[in-house]
Amino acid sequence: MSVLVFIEQRDGQVRPVSREALGEATRIAAAIGGPVIGVCAAAKDPGLAALGEAGADRVLLATSDRFAAYDAEGTAAAVEAAVRGVQPVVVLFAASAMGKDLAPRVAAKLGIGLASDCTKIDPASGGLTATRPVYAGKALQQVRFPKTPALLSLRPKVFAQVSRAGTSASVEPLAVTLPGDGPRARVLRVSAVAGGKVDLTESEIIVSGGRGLKGPENFPLIEELAGALGATVGASRAVVDAGWRPHHDQVGQTGKTVSPKLYVAVGISGAIQHLAGMSSSRCIVAINKDPDAPIFKVADYGVVGDLFEIVPALTAEVKKLNAHG
Ligand SMILES: Cc1cc2nc3c(=O)[nH]c(=O)nc-3n(C[C@H](O)[C@H](O)[C@H](O)COP(=O)(O)OP(=O)(O)OC[C@H]3O[C@@H](n4cnc5c(N)ncnc54)[C@H](O)[C@@H]3O)c2cc1C
Repeated sequence: MSVLVFIEQRDGQVRPVSREALGEATRIAAAIGGPVIGVCAAAKDPGLAALGEAGADRVLLATSDRFAAYDAEGTAAAVEAAVRGVQPVVVLFAASAMGKDLAPRVAAKLGIGLASDCTKIDPASGGLTATRPVYAGKALQQVRFPKTPALLSLRPKVFAQVSRAGTSASVEPLAVTLPGDGPRARVLRVSAVAGGKVDLTESEIIVSGGRGLKGPENFPLIEELAGALGATVGASRAVVDAGWRPHHDQVGQTGKTVSPKLYVAVGISGAIQHLAGMSSSRCIVAINKDPDAPIFKVADYGVVGDLFEIVPALTAEVKKLNAHG
């Protein structure tokens, strides 16, 4: 009755989304009674024993030079080998860029279903039930699995990590027969965003700007508030399409799905496609001069007013608070 978790690594570092998946795995494992087992594909061990603290009892490691960059086919073969060896009842992935690519491949190889981008898992109601937003977040779908294992990918930043200080996981080699004469598609290069910016999907706080800012020359207002809050800057599609911000800043249906602790929407109307990417944020603050803007329907706190007055005043207050420790 084990729970298997795909451990995502990049450049020799385990991604935080995998710790979130391990956290949820420990809760499921406690309900069904069984161990939490990780599976990782890497060129060398990215410090997997330390994942004991995040909830893993064992981690299976497939090593190959092919795993130095993400190798979709090889990694899918590794996860498939782990599933066949371990026979888990649940397999968890993060619904990250890698997880979104990998989980359907594994599901297809095993010939079983997948519930992607889940925001809640209930292991206790007569078989596992997963909840996932559909129709751009307008409805919540509940999914049950008639067969095991249940394959699920978890929306980043929704599930809490656990901390089991002083616990280490046993790391065991996993034998994998890598397919063919090498991968049919190969990652040649990863272009990281300059400036060490935290990925939007991993940010605890996001300040996003929309068309209400009137032009790219006014985005420093957003950057300054984000700087004071220790936040990452996001954007609506309208401003990305206008070329004011790069595409990787876009939040929404055709951008990134984010669930930070705090999401501040500035001059964003709250179109359904934008809400699809941010409505699962823990606390939403909206600043908009139109009291009927749809963003206020999802906001926990709303400020009706001119952003050009409110944002500088807010930034000044946050800076004052920061100065007082
Ligand atoms: C298939 C499809 C996919 C899409 N995907 C996405 C997506 O991923 N992400 C996304 O964001 N959109 C997406 N869109 C576009 C979406 O429908 C909206 O057009 C877009 O989100 C609007 O961006 P906005 O809120 O910045 O602009 P607007 O809708 O123009 O809103 C600007 C807001 O600023 C307010 N404002 C103006 N001046 C001020 C001021 N001085 N002070 C305070 N407030 C002010 C206005 O009241 C208004 O509410 C998609 C659309 C389609 C059809």
